[in-house]
Amino acid sequence: MSTIVLVVGKNGAGKGTLLDKFMNGREEEYQILAMSGLLTKVRETDPELWAKIDAIMKSGELVPDDIILKIVSKELNSAAKTVICDGFPRNLAQAKAMINAGHVPAAVIEVYLEDEQVIQRAGLRRVCSKCRKSYTVAGGHNPPKQDGICDDCGSPLVKRPDDEEEVVRKRLNQYEQQTYPVIEFFENAGAITFEVDNSRDGSAAQIEFEEILDLF
Ligand SMILES: [Zn+2]
Repeated sequence: MSTIVLVVGKNGAGKGTLLDKFMNGREEEYQILAMSGLLTKVRETDPELWAKIDAIMKSGELVPDDIILKIVSKELNSAAKTVICDGFPRNLAQAKAMINAGHVPAAVIEVYLEDEQVIQRAGLRRVCSKCRKSYTVAGGHNPPKQDGICDDCGSPLVKRPDDEEEVVRKRLNQYEQQTYPVIEFFENAGAITFEVDNSRDGSAAQIEFEEILDLF
């Protein structure tokens, strides 16, 4: 059975960017297990199960934990590389089911940013209303050449509803309530836990993140 590492982080803490850079050139040794990718795979390979999942999602419900676990287990059992779980398990029930199915992660890495920094970064973020390319306003790390206008297509930049402070705070609460119990649970089950402080400028967080993942 292959090694499992969980990477967690608040929405907006920069986990996706760190992971993308890490995976560049390491596809032979590592694979990312993310719900979106798994669901795409189900859609392409298991029409019967997909019909069931699709109906649930269209009704606005979350896909039940037992179905998720079945899909994840199948993937973990057949994995030949180190598996990096991204966004799974999303709650304690899924974490417990994962252990019961014999999948004990070797490590949990949290990409960490203070709540206030997450809120601040979300406040600076803008996306192109047409091509969805992302920017920050002037003063952020990635402003457009012309204020409020997309470099690529010239369309106006907008703030995503997802980046409104109220929505961000709600998501942060949810993260605290769901994810910290998962980290603690896996720690008690023997996983090594790491925290990568992603508030630092430059490449320090990337280097540390890669050094940790390269251990597994
Ligand atoms: Zn654009």
